[in-house]
Amino acid sequence: MFNLILFGPPGSGKGTQSEMLISKYGFKHLSTGDLLRSEIANKTDLGLKAKSFMDNGQLVPDAVVIGMVDAAINANKQASGFLFDGFPRTKAQAIALDELLESHGTAISLVLALDVPEEELIVRMINRAKTSGRSDDADEAVQKKRISVYKNETLAVAEHYAAFDKVITLNGLGQIDGIFSSLCKEIDARA
Ligand code: ADP
Repeated sequence: MFNLILFGPPGSGKGTQSEMLISKYGFKHLSTGDLLRSEIANKTDLGLKAKSFMDNGQLVPDAVVIGMVDAAINANKQASGFLFDGFPRTKAQAIALDELLESHGTAISLVLALDVPEEELIVRMINRAKTSGRSDDADEAVQKKRISVYKNETLAVAEHYAAFDKVITLNGLGQIDGIFSSLCKEIDARA
């Protein structure tokens, strides 16, 4: 199995690039943001629990997210590889993911990190708010909160995998196709 983490701050283009990567490589896409939004749309208990955290730009508690990912991995055991998008977002989630994958006889193969300056992230999120319909995109204070949560809690995930030499950082500025090609080059060199 080739298991990839697409890593980067909110607004760095993970969702856009993930879609292109899954259609090229056939990864099973596992976006915790998408899974949580679908729980909210279906008004499940989990969705009701998650919504207020998300609307405030905070992380949903680790136990909730890890349980959801565990179920998604178990439901897709035949996949040739997973693309994790927006997960792990804390060191505890990274350790839990490593354990889950190990219990399935596999591991994270590569972490591709998109590097985008903070000013550009805010511009992109403001633009995304016009079309996404996401309640957590509407407010600039929430966007800033998401970026500070990223710095304070999520950057530790890159450090965790850097210790295993699994992280490649790429420039996330420029044309979507150019960024996609640089991601593909790194995958092709290892897959
Ligand atoms: P973005 O890339 O803009 O941050 P996501 O769709 O990945 O958007 O996430 C939206 C929100 O969902 C996050 O701000 C957070 O509240 C919640 N969320 C998504 N993934 C996780 C996760 N792995 N752990 C905790 N909360 C999460």
